[in-house]
Amino acid sequence: MADRFDLESFLDDLKSRNPGQKEFFESVREVAEDVVDIIDENPEYHRQQILRRMSEPDRVISFRICWENDDGDICIQRGYRVQNNNAIGPYKGGLRFHPSVNESVLKFLAFEQTFKNSLTGLPMGGAKGGADFNPKGRSEREIMRFCQSFMTELYRHVGADRDVPAGDIGVGPREIGFMFGQYKRITNQFTGVLTGKGLEYGGSLIRPEATGYGAVYFLRSMLETQDRDLEGMTAVISGAGNVATHAAEKITELGAKVIAMSDSKGFIHDPDGIDSEKLDWIKQHKGRRGGEISDYVDQFSGATFHKGEKPWGLECDIAMPCATQNELSGEDARKLLDNGCIAVSEGANMPTERDGVQAFKQAKILYAPGKAANAGGVAVSGLEMSQNSERRSWDEDQVQGLLVDIMKDIHQRCRDNGMNGDTGYCDYVKGANIAGFRKVADAMLAYG
Ligand code: GLU
Repeated sequence: MADRFDLESFLDDLKSRNPGQKEFFESVREVAEDVVDIIDENPEYHRQQILRRMSEPDRVISFRICWENDDGDICIQRGYRVQNNNAIGPYKGGLRFHPSVNESVLKFLAFEQTFKNSLTGLPMGGAKGGADFNPKGRSEREIMRFCQSFMTELYRHVGADRDVPAGDIGVGPREIGFMFGQYKRITNQFTGVLTGKGLEYGGSLIRPEATGYGAVYFLRSMLETQDRDLEGMTAVISGAGNVATHAAEKITELGAKVIAMSDSKGFIHDPDGIDSEKLDWIKQHKGRRGGEISDYVDQFSGATFHKGEKPWGLECDIAMPCATQNELSGEDARKLLDNGCIAVSEGANMPTERDGVQAFKQAKILYAPGKAANAGGVAVSGLEMSQNSERRSWDEDQVQGLLVDIMKDIHQRCRDNGMNGDTGYCDYVKGANIAGFRKVADAMLAYG
């Protein structure tokens, strides 16, 4: 083995071991570039091959799911659980039901989750799972049958002290309910095996709000370092799901005006601002009724719909990508910068492509990567696990207070590790990667 960690050969090796897995490669590359100095400073990290081990998932479980649709046809899907690393706690991370799900996407998300969970300061390892199932257009009964079949395979790999899944894209409280019910039926155990549960059966207050609220708290902490606040700022948000709507709710409460939101079909621009009444309409329409954001323009005058476009060309102070990965390109980032954007907080996981991240860093704006900014969701999942373990439910103030404190702590950890000399500039991506890496790495070293 070479005396020193060599980034180029590490990346060549990574690519050849994971052919065609672009998303996974990119996520590991970003971390490797940021922790190379830390590995140089601590020869044990190199000798024990810590980064190589972290980027080789502990387990990639892949299984077949058969379910029956409403026409009586048998449908077959592929399901996965990627257990990346459990050095600091049981595996933890969401389940995604979306046609884009494949091994590369879930390996990337499980790798990211390891760092995100470490940053929260709570004892949770990293995992991710899901299936290439498209819930769009499916009846409630079809979704129930799919969830039950999915858990019939997954149950043997998870457990309250082993691996605790939660929701992600395409998996909300309803799907968690169906899966929890099936786990309970098969194992005859009532445990905290999933988070994001309903309040009646072990869920936590504030869990639905936590990801979006947390991303706004992180944004607020970044602005405070420049003696700024959100009052009077204009924000553009992508997405219209759970993360996006709760981010919009909190940022509006703190004085900003949200002028755009989107779905996979395009975005709406409302120069008057999406106030709480309009936001409630979006939540109802998109959520329970599965409607499209374009219908907004028929409800509220003055708004326009932009088919097939992303909202990043609008003038704004704040951008919050809250939809999905790779939704903000280098060109989009340059447009945002040209239009006066001063801060970006990611509610989604890795929504900004590599050259977009470079553009934000070069412009030295406040840029919070998803693994730090959206960690509030999994943090409150961690609090749900604590409540389940002690068989109690905490009140709203307690959970909310802890979420605020955890987001402040994550922000501080990023600054402690991301400040660029005395230039005053904080590279939050680097800070998050180094802080997340250190805790997991040191635990791994302790195990020999
Ligand atoms: N899917 C969410 C995330 O990306 C939440 C995971 C969890 O609560 O376990 O962090």
